[in-house]
Amino acid sequence: MTIIPDTLALIGNTPLVRLKGPSADTGCEILAKCEYANPGASVKDRAALYIVQDAEEKGLIGPGGTIVEGTAGNTGIGLALVANAKGYKTIIVMPETQSREKMDTLRALGAELVLVPAAPYSNPGHFVHTSRRIAEETENALWANQFDNIANRKAHILGTAEEIWAQTGGRVDGFTCTAGTGGTIAGVGMGLKAKNEDIVIALTDPYGAALYSYYACGELKAEGSSVAEGIGQGRITANLEGAPIDTQFRISDAEGLEWVHRLLEEEGLCLGLSSGINVAGAVALAKQMGPGKTIVTILADTGFRYLSTLYNADWLDAKGLKVPASLRAG
Ligand code: PMP
Repeated sequence: MTIIPDTLALIGNTPLVRLKGPSADTGCEILAKCEYANPGASVKDRAALYIVQDAEEKGLIGPGGTIVEGTAGNTGIGLALVANAKGYKTIIVMPETQSREKMDTLRALGAELVLVPAAPYSNPGHFVHTSRRIAEETENALWANQFDNIANRKAHILGTAEEIWAQTGGRVDGFTCTAGTGGTIAGVGMGLKAKNEDIVIALTDPYGAALYSYYACGELKAEGSSVAEGIGQGRITANLEGAPIDTQFRISDAEGLEWVHRLLEEEGLCLGLSSGINVAGAVALAKQMGPGKTIVTILADTGFRYLSTLYNADWLDAKGLKVPASLRAG
């Protein structure tokens, strides 16, 4: 069949691509799921679709309804496009520190955008709590609740993990990615372990997040900080509960950014920073496992969402991050 029946069916079934540089560096096959190829240009379209379908099946949203969510942006974009395709409205609450491009995309999709100051989770003004309150005050509204709604990780158990298994013909030795809600790492981890429990599942964490120390020594403790958007969790969300994590890596922004710029220069891929951190994690896992292994990771979103930040020399300078020669020359 060459015609996709409707636009929502464009979500998922993303290509798996071999990354030349990381594979050459490690002697492993480093493969990546091209999640930027989803219609909303991120991995979060998958969770958005499952969360809305699950709510419809449970009768939690009906015609004329409004979807409300707190998000770093990508889940909001996924929800807004699913809502448009199904005839719902969206209200998206987002920290004002996130990229301008994500805000503009949400406005273009017709979402009502509520920007709040960045705050710790314990603060009632945090974007997640604000979104819950707005949902409670809005008639016929669904609070998507991506962090603690396990329809999120189900999208990865039934979608992403099955696809990776089929695309590699079952020849996969390890998987790694970062966590925002934890839906991707937990869902892919659970899905792949159900096929073969010997597949190594590794969490790759940025600085400023507490999961690395949790999986290393049982204590939720953050160290340092990161400018990466959409990742970096400080608690065990419902999606992370029972995640089969075998090992963990902590990756700096500088190292992730080096991969972001290398993947652009050497392979023509324009990606966000979580993708660079994921690739750095895949390289670390490959080095730990040794040559000849097949390691899969996630290219979580498009770099076109960060042209004013990761691909902007002034912004990188201001953050004390290395500016690649290609950006200086331009
Ligand atoms: N990368 C980016 C760019 C994201 O927006 C997100 C989701 N916030 C993630 C990675 C992490 O995905 P998950 O929520 O499934 O842990």
